[in-house]
Amino acid sequence: MLYEFVTRPLIAGNWKMHGLKAQLGEICAMAATAAEAPDVDILICPPATLIERAVRAAAGRLLIGGQDCHSEVSGAFTGDVSARMLKDDGASAVIVGHSERRKAHGETDAIVAAKARAARQAGLMAIICVGEAGADRDAGRALAVCARQVVASVPRGMGGADCAIAYEPLWAIGQDEAANPEAIVEMHGHIRQTLIRHLGATGALVRILYGGSVTGENAAGILSLPEVNGALVGRESLSFAPFEAIIRAAAAVSHPKDIRYAKS
Ligand code: PEP
Repeated sequence: MLYEFVTRPLIAGNWKMHGLKAQLGEICAMAATAAEAPDVDILICPPATLIERAVRAAAGRLLIGGQDCHSEVSGAFTGDVSARMLKDDGASAVIVGHSERRKAHGETDAIVAAKARAARQAGLMAIICVGEAGADRDAGRALAVCARQVVASVPRGMGGADCAIAYEPLWAIGQDEAANPEAIVEMHGHIRQTLIRHLGATGALVRILYGGSVTGENAAGILSLPEVNGALVGRESLSFAPFEAIIRAAAAVSHPKDIRYAKS
């Protein structure tokens, strides 16, 4: 079967617990650059407090997303935000299963899968994070750990454009250097095969983002690796100049689309 695989890269910025109204100007500046990179999907995930204003600042040129959502639509969950609420504020996507949530909030693969399902029901793209700890890699089980996370965190029936996977090796987040290209290529290829086994043909159409110390300097190299369809960016997404460099790198390596064979 032939499938159209949209290779527009997705560059997603995760602002974590950073950002006040004063930072909305960064989003306005990013939106202006986005107009010059029409073949790149650009997403900023600010804190929930800024989503509605960020949507306005993005002026339809950037996607705005949440950093997490609850798996229920509404209810007695003090402090939580549902996918439907994010959608209501104008969000297009939501990150689920970031390693900081998995660690600090005890989120299991089953919880992450429930959140991804809630995102789909609300009409949001779910960016589902997976990644091994340094100890897993040292013990030679990085591929197995990430494959298990993909199978358990990505609900069957999802695929294509309703989700993306972010491979974020925990040992490469917030560091001076990203993971090396060999490790990225091996893992992204393994995640692709796992997605196809798990989801069928639509597993070939899910974008796989790399995350972990992406910068304007290393972005072009990382984004041109096989099966790397974008990046999830932390620190370098907080202000316009470094993020602009990453967007421009993505635009330089992007191909609007590609046709690929996917076994069902
Ligand atoms: C992250 O925490 O998801 C991340 C990729 O951060 P950084 O880009 O700062 O390593």
